[in-house]
Amino acid sequence: MNLNPGIGNSPVATAGVSVIRSKRELRAALSEGRREGRTIGLVPTMGYLHAGHLSLLSAARAECDVVVMSLFVNPTQFGPGEDLDRYPRDEDRDLRLATEAGVDFVYAPAVAEVYPEGFSAQVEVGGNLTAVLDGEPERRGPAHFRGVTTIVAKLFNTVAPDIAYFGQKDAQQAAVIRRMVRDLDFPVRIEVLPTVREADGLAMSSRNAYLDEDARERATALSRALATAAGAAAESLPAALAAARAELAAAAVEPEYLEARDAESLETVTELNGRPVLIAVAAPVGGARLIDNVLIRPGAAAAPQEGE
Ligand code: AMP
Repeated sequence: MNLNPGIGNSPVATAGVSVIRSKRELRAALSEGRREGRTIGLVPTMGYLHAGHLSLLSAARAECDVVVMSLFVNPTQFGPGEDLDRYPRDEDRDLRLATEAGVDFVYAPAVAEVYPEGFSAQVEVGGNLTAVLDGEPERRGPAHFRGVTTIVAKLFNTVAPDIAYFGQKDAQQAAVIRRMVRDLDFPVRIEVLPTVREADGLAMSSRNAYLDEDARERATALSRALATAAGAAAESLPAALAAARAELAAAAVEPEYLEARDAESLETVTELNGRPVLIAVAAPVGGARLIDNVLIRPGAAAAPQEGE
């Protein structure tokens, strides 16, 4: 028996939420609910929770009998020179917020539990989906998405959720995960929820913690640029992107990319074509690499502040 709260492999109750560190304990904790036919919802996170994460937890709480949140800063999705070491972490605060959100189990494994000695398997979605935008070699590269799909596949195998929740904020990640689930027949429903924003439009992100006052102000240019692009897209996509670029330039923000893509295939599009179009941006601002996007649905007035 483990008498040391938070240490070892036994689930630890933190006023309502059980913190679990090992796959074995997690499977055991979920087995009764599964046997009784309760629906299990999974919300994968890297922690440092904000209102975007909380919206996923709230949807999971409303729709599922058992809610599992994973809390794991996944090293394999960070490139060399990226911010793995300084990625913000505050487990106590995350556990408090997860408790308030009604989460049943927080799965917070150590790196060695997820990637034991000799770990050498990978799950990869090939082709265009992971070779464009964030997946281009001069940006984060396809290794980033291999890291994402491998950890998400492992979480699906460990938790076996009925429904898993992701944010539209990471639109390419959501498209890649949908494709992985379809192609590999994971028996899970994927829910993608709208981007949650600060009052001034900035998409919530754990990385916003890196922004000082000046950078925080300049960062609002991303959502402004997307709003401009969305408003002008019906007339001409290239002109809409040019107007968005001007909006970024006015705030001295140099984008890594600002592009219009088919929302499902991520093929480049030059005009609205009756299918959902994603306008996506990534830009370094004050030491943070920020991403944001707006989805333009055919026939719907663009609503960039709602993100989806
Ligand atoms: P992260 O902890 O950044 O890996 O994010 C965990 C999940 O929360 C992912 O599915 C993200 O897409 C989602 N997420 C992050 N930021 C937001 C946001 N501002 N609005 C909605 N979902 C978000």
